[in-house]
Amino acid sequence: MGIDSEIYAYQEAVLKRLTERFRKIDEIAEYNQLKVVRAMQECQVSEACLLGTTGYGYNDLGRDTLEAVYAKIFHTEDALVRPQITCGTHALALALMSNLRPGDELFSPVGKPYDTLEEVIGIRPSKGSLAEYGISYRQVDLKADGGFDYEAIKEAITPRTRLVTIQRSKGYQTRPTFSVEQIGELIAFVKKIKPDAVCMVDNCYGEFVETKEPSDVGADMVVGSLIKNPGGGLAPIGGYIAGTRQCVENAAFRLTSPGLGKEVGASLGILKDFYQGLFLAPTVTASALKGAIFAANLYENLGYSVIPKGDEDRHDIIQAVTFGTPEAVIAFCQGIQAGAPVDSHVTPEPWDMPGYDSPVIMAAGAFVSGSSIELSADAPIKPPYAVYFQGGLTWQHAKFGILKSLQSLADRGLLDKNRLKL
Ligand SMILES: *Cc1c(COP(=O)(O)O)cnc(C)c1O
Repeated sequence: MGIDSEIYAYQEAVLKRLTERFRKIDEIAEYNQLKVVRAMQECQVSEACLLGTTGYGYNDLGRDTLEAVYAKIFHTEDALVRPQITCGTHALALALMSNLRPGDELFSPVGKPYDTLEEVIGIRPSKGSLAEYGISYRQVDLKADGGFDYEAIKEAITPRTRLVTIQRSKGYQTRPTFSVEQIGELIAFVKKIKPDAVCMVDNCYGEFVETKEPSDVGADMVVGSLIKNPGGGLAPIGGYIAGTRQCVENAAFRLTSPGLGKEVGASLGILKDFYQGLFLAPTVTASALKGAIFAANLYENLGYSVIPKGDEDRHDIIQAVTFGTPEAVIAFCQGIQAGAPVDSHVTPEPWDMPGYDSPVIMAAGAFVSGSSIELSADAPIKPPYAVYFQGGLTWQHAKFGILKSLQSLADRGLLDKNRLKL
């Protein structure tokens, strides 16, 4: 498969040190696997649930049961899980727009939200943004050490604060990702000041990384994408909102129509992939986590700066590696692509893409287009020349892709082979 024996020997040494970390990940995966199975059993998922409806989709047994399964997993009153929710940004926009009214204020106590939400909120002006509907926005940045600025948060909460949005994952920033426990502390603090504030957590990339979810520690709503963790690599589209009956009903009335809500929305033929993907999601997430930890240790020991660090606890599946040069970033991404099951024969190149202020290179050889629970990497070609990568439907494949990335650096003369030792 084109991996030099020195590189293979080096990774074996790296891997030996990770046995205990991997064992803990398997333990979490086992817990979450049983959590999912139990929810499916308690909701009496049956063969009929795997079939879909057409047209209006009245009495769609599979759809309604799947939503009950999600609600059980997240320990919420209700859930909305639909192919009509097109992606994570759509799910988040839906949750916000349906639970805010003109005159309300949206508050982020964790700094700037994910890029695509800037236009949803109206931080960057956009048609149909919350700002256009008279919903204001306020944020408090994290402290220099990545902690919550409780003083400033207390001052920022006003009688108009209606919804508090908390992004669990760092996304493509350099701040730490929050643990579920930290999120619980933040929510408790907010609720003490304003008990009726709706606390929403952007759960993208965080599902099944821990045994608890933000909805177990006080979140009124958790929101995410099915082409990330909970889709298990099989869901070809979709998003979810799990939360209080009121929050979910608001979202359903906005997704379809006031009065119709959850009653309509045919599932077509998609439900088997939603169920089976959810069933696989705990082990798929564990595979992606192992890949991230493996890569962090592999590259950190070669002298590159990595976030999170090799020995740090994980709260999402994203790994960043800073290479410092465009050549190394490109070589890394081309190596990831060369390890893909689909499109391994094509070579990604940096390109000017809409919405970015520098050329971007993306490696993705996925069964589901753009799926980032599958092994994928992307990087803006600008200082500090860092690559963000994530995913891997199986640990064995994540490992292979990462070895191909290192091999790609070596093949281009960008790797000092003397460093290939612990
Ligand atoms: C991916 C992601 C989103 C947006 O999801 P899309 O499916 O790409 O629209 C939002 N927030 C976070 C933290 C994410 O990782």
